[in-house]
Parts: sequence; C-alpha cells; structure tokens
Amino acid sequence: MRSIKFKKILSAILMAGVLTTTPMATTAYANTPADVTEQEGAQGDTTLPEQEAAQPEEENQGSQDPQDPQDPQDTPDTPEEVIKVGKARLVSVTSVKETLQLKWKAKGNVSGYLIYRKTSDSDYKKIKTIRDKSQVSYVDQKVTPNKTYRYKIICFYRVDGEVYYGSNSNPISGKVKVEVGRVKNLKVKAKKISLKLNWKKSGEVSGFFIYKKSDKGSFKRIAKVEKKSYLDEKIYLNQKYSYKLRPYRKMDGKVFFGEYTKPVSGKAAVKAVKRKITDKNSGVYGKTILTYEYNDGTMVENPEKYLDDQVSYVMYINKSRQMVTAYAKVDQCLVPVKVFICSPGYATPIGTFHLNLKYRWHELMGPCWGQYCSRITTDGIYFHSIFSSQPNSNKTMSVSAYNKLGTICSHGCVRLQAYAAKWIFDHCPIGTEVVIYNGSGYEPFKKPVIGKLPYWHTWDPTDETAAYLCKQHKCH
Ligand SMILES: [Zn+2]
Repeated sequence: MRSIKFKKILSAILMAGVLTTTPMATTAYANTPADVTEQEGAQGDTTLPEQEAAQPEEENQGSQDPQDPQDPQDTPDTPEEVIKVGKARLVSVTSVKETLQLKWKAKGNVSGYLIYRKTSDSDYKKIKTIRDKSQVSYVDQKVTPNKTYRYKIICFYRVDGEVYYGSNSNPISGKVKVEVGRVKNLKVKAKKISLKLNWKKSGEVSGFFIYKKSDKGSFKRIAKVEKKSYLDEKIYLNQKYSYKLRPYRKMDGKVFFGEYTKPVSGKAAVKAVKRKITDKNSGVYGKTILTYEYNDGTMVENPEKYLDDQVSYVMYINKSRQMVTAYAKVDQCLVPVKVFICSPGYATPIGTFHLNLKYRWHELMGPCWGQYCSRITTDGIYFHSIFSSQPNSNKTMSVSAYNKLGTICSHGCVRLQAYAAKWIFDHCPIGTEVVIYNGSGYEPFKKPVIGKLPYWHTWDPTDETAAYLCKQHKCH
C-alpha cells in the first residue's frame, strides 16, 4: 500500500511552507514520483516499486494516474520525521548500436531508481524501475534510430516498509545514431576492357556509393547502386584503377553513411606488347610499337577508344604507299590506332611537320573547296577531304578524285575520305606531329581498299553530313 500517511504529512508541510524552516528543507523529500512531470497532465506510470515487487515487472504497462501529493483536502498531522532521499545526477546518454545507454551517479539514501523518458511528442513516462542501488547504468533498447529521447532519474528509498522518492535528476537528451552496415569482401575482376566489382554486406544497408580513382587522379564518386556488384566499362587500357565503397542507409528521408572499404585495384585484362622496329625501310624505324592483346591473343580493335582522353597522336604519312597511320603516344611508345587511304602529290614534302591551322571548309587550288582542313606545312599542304566544285558544298564532290584515292594525284595536299579528314580534324590539335616519308617496310596496318563510286555519287559516302543522300539513294 502507498504511504498515504507520510504523503499527507508532506503535503501539509508543502502547503504550509514549513519545509523552508526545516534543516532538511533544501534537499529532496519523500514524495510521490509524480513530481517528475514537468507539466500538468502527465500520464507517467507511478507504480511504486514496493507494489511492483510482488509481481513480475511489466515495463511501460502502468496505467495508474500519479497521485497528487498536494491534495488540499488533506489535514496536516504533526511531522514525525522527514526522510531525506538521495538524488541522482544523470551523466550521459550515449547511442550504442541503436540503443541509448544511460549512466548516472547518486548520493544519499537510495534503494533504487526510476527512469523516466520523454519524446518530442509525448511526456515523461516511467520506463524502468531499478531496485539495485549499485546499478547506475541502463540500456534503453526500445528506441527508434534517428529519434531523440530525454531522460530523468528519480531515486527512491525504502525504509521501514515505506518508500520515499527523491526529486528529479537533471534531464539529458540523446539521439539514437543510425547504424550503417558494412561492406565485406570487396573484389575486383577484370573482364577484357571492363572491371567488375563484387562484394557482400553485413548489417543494415540501403545501398552503396562507389568511388574510383586512376593512377593519376583522386577518388571520385562514380555510381550509387543497391545491388552488390558493379561493372565499370569506362576504363582505359593503359591505366590501373582503384575502387572503394561506402555503404549508406536511408532513414526518414536522410542518408546516413557507413564506413569506406579499403581500396581494391584492377587493370583491363589485356597484355601490352612492346616491340622495337628494326626495319630500316619503315617510317617508324627505331620506334617502339605498343599493341594490346586480350589474354586469348587476339588484338584489341580500335584501342584509341580505351586510351586516356588526354592521349596525343602522331600521324605518319607513307607517301609512296598512299596511306596515313595514326599512332597514339603511350609510355614513350606508339600505339597504332587508325589507318586511312590517301592521295598525296608529287609535291608533298618529306619530313616532320606540325599541324598549324584548321578550317572546317577551305578554298583550295582550282578553285575548289575541301572539308576538315588541317594544315601540315606553313606553305599550304593540308589534310582535307576530296574537294567539291562549289563553295562549302558536300554535294558537288569530285567523283574522279574520290576514285583515285590510293594514288599519287594531288597538287601536294593529302586528300582523304571525309571521315578520315574529320577524325584528324577532331583528334589532332594544332601542334600535332606529322611525319611524311616514303617507306616500303613495316606498317602496322594494311593499306585499306575502298570501293569506287558511280559518276552520279557526288558526295563522299563516309561524310556524315551527306549520309542522308546515301539514304535517299539507298546506296550506302
Ligand atoms: Zn552512297
């Protein structure tokens, strides 16, 4: 039963203001734990530990209203004694693995503690009675991640079959930290010119951020995935890549980050094969040629697609065989990437030059007009498309000049199919090295063979700006 008698006495003391004159008046008094409520209307469970002791404990199940210790109807008795109950000081509320861990200290007459908790949308409620005064910590497991809870502790003291309550401890709030699971066993596997990442996870994870870096750069986020694998096809042949992952968890519309993995590295599954050219009749005599092969020995086609965006090119024009080879410069080697058929002229000079001027269209000798003009020498030798008879007209191309590609027939310029002139125009900036030679020796590619055009086909079938004409005529 409740200590009605004592409470009545206390009420009387409180009402009468007697306590202010009592020596013990400045500290805690025996009273009901109803004083834990900071406002009126509290629905806290004030079941007494004495009463609970007789039955199995049920947390948060109490429904009794707090008793009002200040019932003005009570008649004061003579104070027989004032029991001083100890007080708790809440020290910390810490989030540990999605629980909140409370720690406190207490002084004075204490038999145990009542723990009260409040949330932003509810008032203080008793969540736990601890009957062991030496237990000064508690783990609240009934909490939701990313929510904040506020706690207070009241000490109680049991003496002579009566239970007395102390006053509120200081309140402390704690937010339940969202735990994000981990990535395990991150592995990278090369699949030709792509890298496949696989991993496992543990714990709560909504998805993964993927970070990547090349030899030269720093880690950048490249993807966000929910599955446990990722195929990276944006890799270059001549680079090693590192990856790391960071798991995340979404909660209440927010993203919470987990820990980064350690980086793992990989390279494309190709072999870089280098060989020095000892053939004195080759334009690349003395140079080291680098080619890429898959593990099954087949060559990587169009390797320029898998070379660094910053790669630079050098163009070799074999005048005597009317072909142009584009090499990419990688690791002080030459990677053969393209071959074009061309028409130079007897006036085409031999030597090493650098591109120095470009025109999308330009008037040539004739007069006639060429597309995608890149000037090789300062005195007017260009790479350009097969000329047209009308200014800037892709529909008036010279069919006979086109059909003479692969022979020496120009005034000195290096005529090309439109797509080839465009490739050089697009990939070879001003300053690009151009070597013109006569060579019967090693070439990495064969001289291309192209079909002849009928007399009416007055546009270049490789000219993307004239593709609609081939479509109309259903010819290419
Ligand atoms: Zn056509």
